[in-house]
Amino acid sequence: MRTVIHFDMDAFFASVEQLDNPDLRGQPVLVGARSRRGVVTAASYEARPTGVRSAMSMVEALRRCPDAVVVPPRRARYSELSGRVFEVFRRYTPLVEGLSVDEAFLDVTGSRTLFGEGPAIAQLIKEEVYSQIGLTGSAGVASNKFVAKIASDLDKPDGLTVVPAGGEAEFLAPLPLERMWRVGPKARVRLRAAGLQTIGDLARTDRRTLEQLLGSWGQVARELARGIDERPVVVGAPPKSLGTESTFEEDLTTTDALLKPILRQSMQVADRLVNRGLWAQVVTLKLKYGDHRIRTRQARLARAVSDTDAIFHAASELLSRFDAIEAGVRLTGVSVSSLTNEPDAELFPDVERERRERLAATTRALRERFGSAGVTRASLIADRVDAGDSHR
Ligand SMILES: [Mg+2]
Repeated sequence: MRTVIHFDMDAFFASVEQLDNPDLRGQPVLVGARSRRGVVTAASYEARPTGVRSAMSMVEALRRCPDAVVVPPRRARYSELSGRVFEVFRRYTPLVEGLSVDEAFLDVTGSRTLFGEGPAIAQLIKEEVYSQIGLTGSAGVASNKFVAKIASDLDKPDGLTVVPAGGEAEFLAPLPLERMWRVGPKARVRLRAAGLQTIGDLARTDRRTLEQLLGSWGQVARELARGIDERPVVVGAPPKSLGTESTFEEDLTTTDALLKPILRQSMQVADRLVNRGLWAQVVTLKLKYGDHRIRTRQARLARAVSDTDAIFHAASELLSRFDAIEAGVRLTGVSVSSLTNEPDAELFPDVERERRERLAATTRALRERFGSAGVTRASLIADRVDAGDSHR
């Protein structure tokens, strides 16, 4: 049984400002630009009872909390202290997966003989972070990442929540859907309309119904809701980009022919985003021509995405912006960047409409390109592992 700790600093940027400037202690502090289009990057706990939260517009935040002190962000200072917090983490395990400057998963399975059980390690880390840096953080201890992340958020600030192995489903069951990863307000309305209130309700709902409600993510959501999450802790900082590319045995000369590898690559990229709990806002398509010229086209999407359809949709639009394809293309690559683990936008803006549109567009494109027998998703998945594929 694994032991995973999710550690998350409390109101990190705002707490750093209060640490460095004692006048701000005990005051509602908003980190962000004071301009009309400014957004709250962090709000101290003193500001939160007014309903202010990060990603809110500064105008709205100041309407709710007129007494707040607005402080411009000091990224260099945050990253300096972030480095020190991560140093503490690494004293207890080499298996540290940074999710952002102030948040990480730690796999401490192998550290238990040295430092004690998971809860004791989490407590040591909390104490050490506080005594060395002067800031508090909250920890969740569980047998997997999903449960640990939800646990760390339950008792903020300065919390420590332990979920015993075997007790995952029971722990999650009474929690409201708001706690569920990747369920945004609109999806929640839809789930509520279907009679679901808690994560436990999600766990009990059959697969088909959940797929209708949440799209392709429904099945993953159901597993997670049951406390099942096999994703390993992946050492390192969050990647800045993810991508895959493949070289063809013979140059491809039509848009139609190129769409098949581009769809496969879009799927691989989407899988990797989902596996790492990330979303991307920028999609890049790279082509290498027969004469080895390399060209890329890039699109910034209106919101961060992590699904095949959205990535493929963007990549195929980008493909239409390349010329001289008929001269021969030897390689395509799909990559994504501007990654985030906490998209503040709605995650399922209108899942039904979007799913319908995207699936329809994808299916239509495939039917047009590969004939009426169609290339099904399943067949693409089956042959997706190309010898020529390389990951970076
Ligand atoms: Mg935090």
